[in-house]
Amino acid sequence: MRDKVLMKVYSFSRGGISFEDPSAPSRDSTVTAFLPNFSVIPLIQPSWGRAYPVVSIGDRVREGMLIGRGQGMGSANVHATVPGKVVKMVSWKMAGGQVNEALVIRLEGSFEKLGKQEETFSWEGMQPYDLQRLISEFGVIEMEGGGRPVSDIISSLMEAPQPISLVVCCVFDDPWLAADYALCKERLRSVVEGSRIISRIIKVDRVIFAVSYREKELGEQFIMEAGTWDPPSTMVLVGSRYPQRNRRELEQVLRSYGKKEGMELGSFMILGPVTLAAVYDAVKLRKPALERYIAVGGSAVKTPQVMKVRIGTRIGQVFAECGGFIKNPRRIASGSPLLGRAIVDLDEPIGKTSYGLFAYLDGPKIATAPGTCISCGECRNVCPIGLDPEEFYKRNLIIGKHSDEFSQAGAVECNGCRCCDVVCPSRLPLSSSISALVLRGN
Ligand code: SF4
Ligand code: SF4
Repeated sequence: MRDKVLMKVYSFSRGGISFEDPSAPSRDSTVTAFLPNFSVIPLIQPSWGRAYPVVSIGDRVREGMLIGRGQGMGSANVHATVPGKVVKMVSWKMAGGQVNEALVIRLEGSFEKLGKQEETFSWEGMQPYDLQRLISEFGVIEMEGGGRPVSDIISSLMEAPQPISLVVCCVFDDPWLAADYALCKERLRSVVEGSRIISRIIKVDRVIFAVSYREKELGEQFIMEAGTWDPPSTMVLVGSRYPQRNRRELEQVLRSYGKKEGMELGSFMILGPVTLAAVYDAVKLRKPALERYIAVGGSAVKTPQVMKVRIGTRIGQVFAECGGFIKNPRRIASGSPLLGRAIVDLDEPIGKTSYGLFAYLDGPKIATAPGTCISCGECRNVCPIGLDPEEFYKRNLIIGKHSDEFSQAGAVECNGCRCCDVVCPSRLPLSSSISALVLRGN
């Protein structure tokens, strides 16, 4: 039985911003990138777990072969994304000072999967434990978030209070999610089947396709594809104001939906479409995620576009395939301009959690010079949590290197969305002041 499709739009109660960026690429078409001659496969993972190499320099590897084994929570298996020879291990320092390591594979030999008719495996008769083991074996991680292994998330939910609602998060509150949207359009069936597989493993009571209202048509396609399978599926239309996709804001609107409908939604497992397509790949195709859809753009890029890129391709190659730069960029980063991570080396590879690459002709928008607050109150208006960023900024200035309970009170509530930074006319580094307060308290 399918729940009736509701047309009410649920939005979080306060704050947020409308995030537009004309330099983001169009999401309506994708271009497949050339295969890299050298693939750089990271061993240190977004969740800071580490995989340990199971191949040596000089070994030949096949496309999709295990090359690094994860150990313990937070760590996932790593696979070769092209066939070839392992030629070296490299390490590099990232913008935050952390060191990453990777195996470099020189492309050689033939592909077993690329361009071939893919064999599919039936999973309906398998036990939940075996399905989870496949997800773990093929190194599936939360590809839209912090990179937590999906097998870890499943284990943590085994004891969660019932009922459990699986939320397929298709909330596009940021134009730099163009690549995730493109994946939804091109791999809609895989996303839906991925959600069925997860539902089977953790005995989900309900699947909620949380879709921003501007993408209602996409949500209807999900519901049509889901059909009448059990558990029942529902579409909930949500706002597209940033940061609607944040876990806190999303849960808030889903609870409102549940209350209005008189439904107990219980514990949420929130996964994005890219992760669910990777679950499908692991279970139905018995292969790891080999590529990533990436939105490439920014004012410095000649031809912004969404690209399908092999994981391990160097960032410099991806920009080159977009025509390179109009002029030397002042700022290059991965992610979205609001939450991006600065790229210091164009030899860094595309990883499983990469979704956007941008290069701008202008520098960072946030000035560092303090003391120019004009008390306009804009930062308070947009904070979805109801914090006072101006107050925290001033506390941070006053306390210098010291802090106390009073100065930190409330700061941990900040979710780092950076709405306050965007609207501050004095361009003060508000969110980083709040993080500094929190860090000093740890
Ligand atoms: S938005 Fe900036 S200038 Fe306005 S009150 Fe907040 S910190 Fe001060
Ligand atoms: S970064 Fe923190 S303080 Fe600023 S708007 Fe977001 S939640 Fe509020």
